Amino acid sequence: MCLTIPAKVVAVKETASGSPMTEITVLASGRTRDIKALDLPGLSPGDWVLCAYDTAVRAISPADAREISDLLEPTRHIDASSLDPAFIDALKGHATRGLTKEKIIRLLKTEDQRELTALFSEANTVRQAHLKDFFCIHGIVEFSNHCIRDCFYCGLRKDSRDVKRYRMTPDEIVETVSDAVNGRGYKLIVLQSGDDFHYTDGTLADIVRGIKKKCRAFIFISVGERGLECYRKMKEAGASGVLFRFETSNKKVYDSIHPGQSHERRLELLRAMKGLGYYAASGFLIGLPGQTVDDIAGDIILMKELGVNMVSAGPFIPCGGTPLAGCPAGSAAMTLKVIAVSRLLMPKAKIPVTTALETIENAEGRRLGLSSGANSLMFNLTPERYRGDYRIYPGKYHGSTGVWERYGLFKEALSYRMLEKKMFEAFEAGKP
Ligand code: SAH
Repeated sequence: MCLTIPAKVVAVKETASGSPMTEITVLASGRTRDIKALDLPGLSPGDWVLCAYDTAVRAISPADAREISDLLEPTRHIDASSLDPAFIDALKGHATRGLTKEKIIRLLKTEDQRELTALFSEANTVRQAHLKDFFCIHGIVEFSNHCIRDCFYCGLRKDSRDVKRYRMTPDEIVETVSDAVNGRGYKLIVLQSGDDFHYTDGTLADIVRGIKKKCRAFIFISVGERGLECYRKMKEAGASGVLFRFETSNKKVYDSIHPGQSHERRLELLRAMKGLGYYAASGFLIGLPGQTVDDIAGDIILMKELGVNMVSAGPFIPCGGTPLAGCPAGSAAMTLKVIAVSRLLMPKAKIPVTTALETIENAEGRRLGLSSGANSLMFNLTPERYRGDYRIYPGKYHGSTGVWERYGLFKEALSYRMLEKKMFEAFEAGKP
């Protein structure tokens, strides 16, 4: 499921009657190109279309085209020659001698508006060059909020008393996912829960198998620290990816907020998951107490070293009733810089705008994230009756799916192939 920047038809060639293909010329992001239109009779110059690679597959109204362009089309540009040469050197480092930690820190530390504009614009250029203008929509089903861990930041930690705990049954999970895939066109779905061992390894594998039997979708698992055997079984059952953050690359910070857990073990497990052939979505929290900019640079480098295929980094949001309730939230400004630097370092990776960024920035978070180098969104598909109880932090943003659901969905097979190609590219790019 991917949405593209709309293209304006500037010329239409005569075609033999009866042919489903029309040759057209379109203008998109300032460039014209000759493409084909599939099953779109009656197109004329001035009309707007959405394209999948070199095929226009859908005509849309000028108003919807404007809404999508406002959301997706980067507008920030700056004359780089007027900037600090040291900044420019850091910014261009990704294309030449590589981004060293010092350079990453220089980029992350900037608060200069013009430098920020240059950073986001460079990240966008890299995204455009490597991934074209595809913005994908994924879904997440939060199927249980029970958890045996006690992470200091998380509202679902086992010591949280005022949480109404729930578990979806395997049938409910399979139904929810297959409805989203078959009914609404979702093609990549994350199944997330607390670390809940009520679901045995076999049950989790059966859930994946049940989903794969009913629909064609990429399934990502986010169930925390389970034995490798569990991940092997889920892989055999058809799961494609894992969403498993290392949370921070700083062992001291990690240990101070994860009682009873081990940083080494978490990293080891993540590496082992990659070894099983999983597509790895991982990352960290931004703004944890005690975390420095140096640490964040280390987090980004660790993602690259691990060969992460999907970057998952979002601001920490304090949650009432947890030990970190009184700490300040991570900043949106730093989150956007992390997205941009990650894009420079991992040009082909999937980078979703996290719900946490949308939560602290509301509707603007989505647009800002997408124009800083991100290329996908994660929509919440948890059934309404449970959604409010999956409270890892308060005030979770559930933004409108508006134009996304209306236009993000192309013809089934084509859309799946598009995503498959992007996934394959990101997967290959994450190999050592
Ligand atoms: N049990 C699974 C899923 C955890 S919830 C696991 O351990 O992998 C998914 C992510 O939510 C966590 O990895 C964490 O980074 C994030 N999260 C939890 N509490 C948060 C908070 N207060 N603010 C921001 N993100 C939070």
